[in-house]
Amino acid sequence: MKCPHCETAINTNWTTHFIYKDNEEMYLDVIEAGKEIVYGHCPECNKLIIWLLSSNFIETYKDNHGNVDGHYIKKDSPYNEVIIFPKFSIKTVAPEVPEKYDRDYKEAAAILDISPKASAAMSRRLLQTILRENYGVNKGNLNKEIDEFLGSNKVPSYIIDALHYIRVIGNFAAHPDKDKNTGKIVEVEEGEAEWSLETLDALFDFAFVQPAKNESRKKKMDEKLVELGKKPLSNL
Ligand SMILES: [Zn+2]
Repeated sequence: MKCPHCETAINTNWTTHFIYKDNEEMYLDVIEAGKEIVYGHCPECNKLIIWLLSSNFIETYKDNHGNVDGHYIKKDSPYNEVIIFPKFSIKTVAPEVPEKYDRDYKEAAAILDISPKASAAMSRRLLQTILRENYGVNKGNLNKEIDEFLGSNKVPSYIIDALHYIRVIGNFAAHPDKDKNTGKIVEVEEGEAEWSLETLDALFDFAFVQPAKNESRKKKMDEKLVELGKKPLSNL
């Protein structure tokens, strides 16, 4: 699994506890509901992860004398496992992304499961803010601002596609509020909230990560030129 805190692929030791009501434990073989808390620490970031496992059955192990000496959840019955801590998985954002955008993005990601509508509204608002603050577009509505952004920049095709999909998946034509009042919480279409976050991922990479990498590459090459007694291509 991937650690929900640091997103590293991890293999850890889990401790399990069945959840009993009072003295139910002694009747476990007849009880038809099973819940189990499983927890462990990420070996990378050392943070706590807690799962809730549930099913319709608990089966018991008995020793030679017929005494219950252990239980397990039957995974073939209706079976469910969810991470209950951290409450929401925390998406990582590249360090090149300005902090104010990073914060809004993580919030939109954190509420994705409990409110896709609110998450999509936050993503739309953030998308609009990034376009306005970094590309000087300001047409009063997101739809036109996306057009302006796509028309005025050397935007790679994966960004063009992602932004078109946002309008199509979100069915902007049928929901004028989505582009006029971007932060308004309105109905979402299937997959819209997830797609909005993925589009922000792509935009972060294009707008902040790649330019920063490019700058640092240029700086290194210029330093090399100076070392060789040549004139740098840009002002160091
Ligand atoms: Zn971790």
